[in-house]
Amino acid sequence: MEHYDIAVIGAGIAGASAAWAMAERHRVVVLERESHPGYHSSGRSAALFSETYGNAVVRGLSVASRDFLIAPPSGFTEHALLAPRGVMLIGTHGEEPLLARAAAEGAALVPSVHAIDAAEVLRRVPALRRDWVVGGVAEPDAMDIDTHAMLTGFLRALRARGGAVRTDCEVRGLAHDGGRWRIALGDGEIAADVVVAAGGAWCDTLGAMAGAAPIGLVPKRRTAFLVDPPAGADSAVWPAVIAIDESFYFKPDAGKLLCSPADETPSPPCDAQPEELDIAIAADRIQQAAEIPIARVARSWAGLRSFVADKTPVAGYDPRLPGFFWLAGQGGYGFQTTPAMAFAASALVDRRDLPAMLTDRGVSVAALSPARFA
Ligand SMILES: Cc1cc2nc3c(=O)[nH]c(=O)nc-3n(C[C@H](O)[C@H](O)[C@H](O)COP(=O)(O)OP(=O)(O)OC[C@H]3O[C@@H](n4cnc5c(N)ncnc54)[C@H](O)[C@@H]3O)c2cc1C
Repeated sequence: MEHYDIAVIGAGIAGASAAWAMAERHRVVVLERESHPGYHSSGRSAALFSETYGNAVVRGLSVASRDFLIAPPSGFTEHALLAPRGVMLIGTHGEEPLLARAAAEGAALVPSVHAIDAAEVLRRVPALRRDWVVGGVAEPDAMDIDTHAMLTGFLRALRARGGAVRTDCEVRGLAHDGGRWRIALGDGEIAADVVVAAGGAWCDTLGAMAGAAPIGLVPKRRTAFLVDPPAGADSAVWPAVIAIDESFYFKPDAGKLLCSPADETPSPPCDAQPEELDIAIAADRIQQAAEIPIARVARSWAGLRSFVADKTPVAGYDPRLPGFFWLAGQGGYGFQTTPAMAFAASALVDRRDLPAMLTDRGVSVAALSPARFA
């Protein structure tokens, strides 16, 4: 039977990046059910990098990821992984305190974050409605992520380290024989000392297959769609615009506007599809705030953002099952936290200390550990 040191289940951004990091020291295989990597959440994101987004651990992971994303190893990609975009939080009447708090908290984390008045908000995105906007918060160093270049970069670099990637390869059974994992696939069985559950929305399904207690992962559907920007608008230079109450966002995307109602509808793990109602809700909210005609939707999609209760990603060995490693709960931050999570997972799989670039930013073994659900 073929035998690997580590079998990573899932070729989304979490599995691909962790497999790459682990392949520096180990013989690694990635097993992916779909016919191409990134088919699920990793192919459906809004591709934004914001260091003020998420809880303190997530922010620490994002800040720790920036250096790699700006200057990946040579040969990793032909395209820059990050491109300037900026984020602008906006609020309407009654939301002034929310804006003030976001400006203060954001600036404490990222010094370039600052409050802007309504006139400046409108100067940056003239399509916003004068009678709706009361002010905003600018995060000028937020970036667009080339998610495709990132995923293919990790997979290419993994192969260069001798790692293998198998697509059309569903994991159907996991059994520990006392020494190693036997992994049942559609066309046979392989063995590995360690199994890494990086199956996105399916991580608890993989845990159940192995006999682990659930970590309480909840996949939540998020909808996105593309529309034309208003005629004559120079929308390519707009920042990503996010309502301070997170009721919608829109951002330029290759000549169109990517719009979302920022929905978080709990869902079983599945091939998520957009609902007409969610698109209509987003269109209504966006048109209340901006003069953006949403007559025709060019393309729509939905994906699952999977969270555990504290909304912090999970990386570490199961407290009860030998050699079963969780890499789950990347939520809405899976790309922007990626290099840091890959380095963390690689250290933890070898039971090494977390790198200083993580601990210096407040990321601890305990915060990521699946033992917190025991
Ligand atoms: C609309 C939307 C907007 C988003 N915006 C952003 C953003 O702006 N910035 C950001 O950083 N993040 C964003 N995210 C979140 C980000 O996309 C996710 O956190 C990330 O893609 C999760 O990656 P993953 O590898 O864990 O999951 P996935 O990409 O879903 O990969 C898991 C893989 O595991 C495979 N798998 C599962 N079970 C098995 C099995 N039994 N056998 C073999 N393979 C299996 C699946 O087929 C799948 O390919 C967004 C997500 C959505 C949906």
